[in-house]
Amino acid sequence: MQFRDLKAQYTQYKSAIDDSIQNVLNSGQYIGGKSVNELEKELAEYVGVKHCITCANGTDALSLVLMAWDVKEGDAVFVPDFTFFSTGEVVSFNGATPVFVDVDEKTFNIDPEKLTESINKVKQEGSLNLKVVIPVDLFGLPANYDEIEKIAQKYDLLVLEDGAQGFGGNINGKMACSFGDAATTSFFPAKPLGCYGDGGAIFTDSDETAELLRSYKVHGKGNNKYDNVRIGVNSRLDTLQAAILQVKLKAFIEHELDGVNSAYQIYNEKLQNIVETPFIPEGYYSSFAQYTIKLESKEQRDALQAKLKENDIPSMIYYTKPMHRQQAFTDLLFEDGDFAVTNKLCDIVLSLPMHPYLKEEEVTKVCDVIQKFMSV
Ligand SMILES: *Cc1c(COP(=O)(O)O)cnc(C)c1O
Repeated sequence: MQFRDLKAQYTQYKSAIDDSIQNVLNSGQYIGGKSVNELEKELAEYVGVKHCITCANGTDALSLVLMAWDVKEGDAVFVPDFTFFSTGEVVSFNGATPVFVDVDEKTFNIDPEKLTESINKVKQEGSLNLKVVIPVDLFGLPANYDEIEKIAQKYDLLVLEDGAQGFGGNINGKMACSFGDAATTSFFPAKPLGCYGDGGAIFTDSDETAELLRSYKVHGKGNNKYDNVRIGVNSRLDTLQAAILQVKLKAFIEHELDGVNSAYQIYNEKLQNIVETPFIPEGYYSSFAQYTIKLESKEQRDALQAKLKENDIPSMIYYTKPMHRQQAFTDLLFEDGDFAVTNKLCDIVLSLPMHPYLKEEEVTKVCDVIQKFMSV
């Protein structure tokens, strides 16, 4: 059994993907061009925003937005404590200060009440400008944008949705990557919509931000690449990856999202009285980058993971360490007690095999092992 079976997808779409790759090779255009332009239009339309700007990966996508918003030294950027390193890394990389915020125990996403507390604390200390909040759509579930956007308005913060794991989700039909002032995603192979290498994209309705992003991603270009009006970076989505994504986006929309959601239903039915299963609030739809259960203790979680392994079932721990405990951030002096939920989650979460090509009998096998483990 695979944790996320990327080869099953390739096998199913082999001829369309191979054709798409061959077309790029035959065209002689390997940077930019038709595939990239078409993909950006398709992605913007699917998400329901005016602009999509592709780039080299999901980390660059976040960083480019912070550059376009002139986020710099002295700025506070609020980031959930329970996420992948990138979300905090890009803040420090751009010279600003990440302020980690504890998450909601049920959704795993940034806790709006704790965000308000954290904002007030930074405001009182008075040494940083309140600038941006980066909610993360963790494991595929959109963050609580209703509440977050109210808070952002009150304190005049920009909202950057980190949709690296959230692409394809929605809240009452409003798509992930359309929330806030800008949003980003990643096409890393194991993400909900992945390519066959690295890739990323930024979404925004703002013409001004879009124009700045198109400049920053190509060496701060002005009228062209050899007219440079600001210091930028080189961050592009390869034409080959765009061509692959055009095929995969169709599969994603046609059946892959349904596929992960039906796997989620089967998992939940079989596990709901045995372990704590994922919580999807009313009106929310997850793209299930991960299916993550909670155990009672670290000992129990680690023992279950070992038992699954004995049965050739792969599982993963996302994440083993809260952001505020990462060595890279030790100079920021956080109080460990402010992150009680994240500290606990890192000890008790376990992500089970999840992908659109997971078979019912595979889900059943995983659940049987868990049931047996929990009953002794
Ligand atoms: C994967 C991920 C990123 C970074 O994406 P890359 O394409 O790997 O750079 C950023 N944020 C979150 C939450 C992620 O899961």
